[in-house]
Amino acid sequence: MTGTDYHRLLGMGEEAFENLEDHLERREYEGREYRHVPDYRRGVERGTALIADTVVRGFPKVPRTLVLAEGVPNHFDDRVVVVEEKLNGYNVRVAEIEGERLAFSRSGQICPFTTRYLERLVDLEPLFEDHPEAMVCGEMIGPENPYTAHDYPGVDSLEFRAFDWRDRVSGESLPVDERRERYESFDVPQTRLLGEYDVEDAAEEVRRIVRELDEEGREGVIMKSPDVSTQLKYTTSAANQGDLAYAFTLPFDYGQPFMFRRLIREAFQTVEWDEGDDEAKARAHELGEAILLSMRDTIQTIDEGGRVDEEHTVRAHPETVDALLEHLRGQGLTVDVEDDRREGDDRVVTFVKRVQSTNDKTRNYLEGHIVKE
Ligand code: ATP
Ligand code: MG
Repeated sequence: MTGTDYHRLLGMGEEAFENLEDHLERREYEGREYRHVPDYRRGVERGTALIADTVVRGFPKVPRTLVLAEGVPNHFDDRVVVVEEKLNGYNVRVAEIEGERLAFSRSGQICPFTTRYLERLVDLEPLFEDHPEAMVCGEMIGPENPYTAHDYPGVDSLEFRAFDWRDRVSGESLPVDERRERYESFDVPQTRLLGEYDVEDAAEEVRRIVRELDEEGREGVIMKSPDVSTQLKYTTSAANQGDLAYAFTLPFDYGQPFMFRRLIREAFQTVEWDEGDDEAKARAHELGEAILLSMRDTIQTIDEGGRVDEEHTVRAHPETVDALLEHLRGQGLTVDVEDDRREGDDRVVTFVKRVQSTNDKTRNYLEGHIVKE
């Protein structure tokens, strides 16, 4: 690793790189040391990893608009806007380092679970043989998911959908059409393309699309310029409310900004979509249920002597499951296995990531602890 001019690969001055170095997290994956940028800071994307003699760029933050009609034309300088489905799972970037295909998390850690699991989902060997500098970007989706579980029709366990193809060093994307062709030629499954629109029509079209996705309980859209230099996201009410319903089952463990942001999205959507009193009241009712019924369940569970935690199920090769549990525990999480069985060659494990604050605070309040407010 010595002598690698990371700063040149990152396009930074030596001094700027020295400043960055203090903020890098150092990790090891199976005997290989690497460093990564764990948080947002100026000059380099969060999730950028420095490994062997190369870098693997972070996936850029995708900005959001709260109002389609104004936000879309303001954000795009391009004539055409491409709309793809936004899938609700976890982000993964795959790069081939010294002959090994490694899966990097959003924050730039190598995920031992995803690295192993991907091998059985997609054969990326031919792709990297032809394009060794590629960074395959996509979402891992489905119910048997150790990070962000969400149901998709036809996805029984965990699957991969590619949504971007970048150069791992520069972070530059292939244009959408070229990327879609390439993935198709390598048999790699992709996110759905929902349309390409003139920028003046895009907001209206996206509104129509989002209504349909909402009906199906899907998350939303990512709008992209054809060269992918500009991206913008917008989500359905189903996604906003689904997130709220989940977050409020663990009200003292989720950051309050997480909840507040989703409430704000709902407020702007009801105004932009010109909802009348009845429609707005129906939305208010659903929103109220997402918040209150979730907390009610949690408080009742704890009152009855139970606990609330973050539960996940995974289905994988036994060694892959072990690697996952070790990885999660290595991150300081308390993980309890609740169910562990074999199905064919797979091990199916249900585990919880323990949360503390919601359990402690709720119990205290139930016991009559006074709140100073
Ligand atoms: P960020 O906005 O920084 O990426 P976040 O966790 O807040 O982080 P999201 O709100 O889920 O992210 O929105 C962006 C993420 O959406 C991407 O990082 C990617 O993982 C995911 N995604 C799903 N489908 C797509 C798609 N078709 N194109 C691009 N990104 C997609
Ligand atoms: Mg997401």
